[in-house]
Amino acid sequence: MTGFSTRAIHAGQDPDPATGAVIVPVYQTSTFAQSAVGEHAGWDYARSGNPTRDALQAALASLEGARHGFAFASGLAAGDAVLRTLAPGDHVVLANDVYGGTFRQFNRVHRPWGLDFDPVDLSDPDVLAAAWRPRTRMLWIETPTNPLMSIFDVAALAAFAHERDARVVVDNTFATPYLQQPLALGADVVVHSTTKYLGGHSDVVGGAVLLDDDELAGRIGFLQNAVGAVPGPWDAWLVLRGIKTLAVRMRAHCENARAVVAALVRHAAVERVLYPGLPDHPGHEVAARQMRDFGGMVAFRMADEPAALRACARFRVFTLAESLGGVESLVEHPGRMTHQSVAGSLLEVPGDLVRLSVGIEDADDLVDDVEQALRP
Ligand SMILES: *Cc1c(COP(=O)(O)O)cnc(C)c1O
Repeated sequence: MTGFSTRAIHAGQDPDPATGAVIVPVYQTSTFAQSAVGEHAGWDYARSGNPTRDALQAALASLEGARHGFAFASGLAAGDAVLRTLAPGDHVVLANDVYGGTFRQFNRVHRPWGLDFDPVDLSDPDVLAAAWRPRTRMLWIETPTNPLMSIFDVAALAAFAHERDARVVVDNTFATPYLQQPLALGADVVVHSTTKYLGGHSDVVGGAVLLDDDELAGRIGFLQNAVGAVPGPWDAWLVLRGIKTLAVRMRAHCENARAVVAALVRHAAVERVLYPGLPDHPGHEVAARQMRDFGGMVAFRMADEPAALRACARFRVFTLAESLGGVESLVEHPGRMTHQSVAGSLLEVPGDLVRLSVGIEDADDLVDDVEQALRP
């Protein structure tokens, strides 16, 4: 099984050995019968392991080309498990426009507990070198970033961090393993919010950690069980169903995003379009090298915040809502919605910014909706 879609549909998903069910069942059980004390078929208690979750973990690991996969109750729970492998006093360098919830977790959960961190512009090697400390143990990358669509060179940053004995974590939520495979580019750990493109249908919250290193995987697996932020079997099953169509969905997201970007670029009310597929995007060349295509997320800036708020309220096919990566198109105002938690901080996003998650409806309907929403 080498092809991406073949693995998405089959890896970890053999017919059920007990019944022959072609689809991995939802093992809705908290416990498993033992034939004698300590003797069982591989599962003893559902926080520690569940066959539906195991299938998801195997499938996700296969898609990222990883030896180990761990599913979590949310993307933030996945990131939390990775950060808990560090010790008080350790230092992390992260991109200065990571997802707002990631920054909030660093700032208000892990910092009080003893982790130090600096959000910096990872595209500037001098800034990165200046932020580096003797106790820097981890470099946390998101690319493309949410919501400003910055692109960072994973291979170059991994080489920099590895020379200094630090691990590299990539939040691959925006790109998905279909468009970008960070482990192959040199990263050590991939984290996902499976809530987004992997689930793909806006009906589940989940997260995942994928990695090769056996020792670190042992620690993540320990934390998954010892802390217990695990997805239930239904949620695992929904993500498993979602990823079967990941490749076809991502191709449609990318194609529709191109049509929407073309409409935005020629629109007089739009000041700037932030999309890595545009040749004038500062990360275009790196994105073209490390991604298969440019994705379904698009951001744009308008004249001012009132113009952005007015446009957000006018969309009809795009639903005004947080989140992203589902089959339906969504629009949001990051400053007042997804990224309100970073208002007033270094990570504050501009008020004139609008973010689109371009869905897989008919492109003409999406372009018409953009044009009517942006009319004067
Ligand atoms: C949504 C998101 C997260 C957090 O995931 P949850 O599933 O909401 O906990 C992390 N990173 C990125 C890039 C996201 O978009």
